Amino acid sequence: MHVLIAGAGLGGLSLAQFLREQGISYEIFERDIGEKVRFQRWTIAPHVVINKLTSSVPSDLPGLRDSTNHLEPLKLPAQVAMYMPGRMDRVGFQDKRLKRIEDGNDGVAVYFYDGTSAKGDILVGADGVNNVGREHLIRRPSTDVLGVVPLATIVGENFMQADPDISKPDHWLQKAGQQEKLDHVLKATAKTPSSLREIFEMRPGGEIRREPHVWCELELEKIRLPAGHVILVRDASHVMTPFKGEGGRNSFSQV
Ligand SMILES: Cc1cc2nc3c(=O)[nH]c(=O)nc-3n(C[C@H](O)[C@H](O)[C@H](O)COP(=O)(O)OP(=O)(O)OC[C@H]3O[C@@H](n4cnc5c(N)ncnc54)[C@H](O)[C@@H]3O)c2cc1C
Repeated sequence: MHVLIAGAGLGGLSLAQFLREQGISYEIFERDIGEKVRFQRWTIAPHVVINKLTSSVPSDLPGLRDSTNHLEPLKLPAQVAMYMPGRMDRVGFQDKRLKRIEDGNDGVAVYFYDGTSAKGDILVGADGVNNVGREHLIRRPSTDVLGVVPLATIVGENFMQADPDISKPDHWLQKAGQQEKLDHVLKATAKTPSSLREIFEMRPGGEIRREPHVWCELELEKIRLPAGHVILVRDASHVMTPFKGEGGRNSFSQV
């Protein structure tokens, strides 16, 4: 059995470690080309799955319990871990962007934008919200099945507020500058306890994401998918917002 994994995000990387522990052959392909292409930090709350996670990965990995027991740069009681962009201990990047899938009787072939290809017995599509595997399965653009979550978000550190108009082109967030967005967050959190505001106050305006961010939702269960050698995991099959670090935690549990 040889497993192809598209996407080295939380789902794809966890699956790769689980397969390595089981001695199952795999290859993992990632679109990103460098350790700094991801803008935002990640807060993951693995405490409810930590026992299962620790027992499912190979023993040569750093101790998961200790390495997830912090919340930088704040000194809050630890239950979650914050991962900084640009950390040099992130995995290697491949510049392997999946373009197309061919699902045959004796396995699956994947083709990349750089002209290379790979073959395997199954493909696990772990390439996130705008997923190539999903398009292959539903035979129409991925965006056809994505809904918009009515939330306004300023991404630097996540700041959310119910707002059904967020995807409209004339919404103020679509045009607002970085400092304008940060000022809005500081005003909106003015009455929040200072230990929780600190994360916003420490942020320079230049670290706020320029492009507007629209959250998507997806319920693939409602769509009939064909049988074959392509499987979708996590955001590829069920998109989640980042509340309480549940996206990350569910990635570990689902794979
Ligand atoms: C702005 C933002 C902030 C978030 N913050 C948090 C948080 O703090 N805590 C939390 O728990 N959850 C958070 N989430 C949700 C969480 O990121 C997801 O639920 C989780 O990462 C899903 O894991 P995944 O493996 O399915 O996808 P991802 O982690 O998104 O990984 C998909 C990978 O596939 C790669 N890829 C995409 N297309 C291709 C292609 N064509 N070919 C090859 N590779 C490809 C991508 O580069 C990426 O590395 C956040 C989501 C967003 C959008």
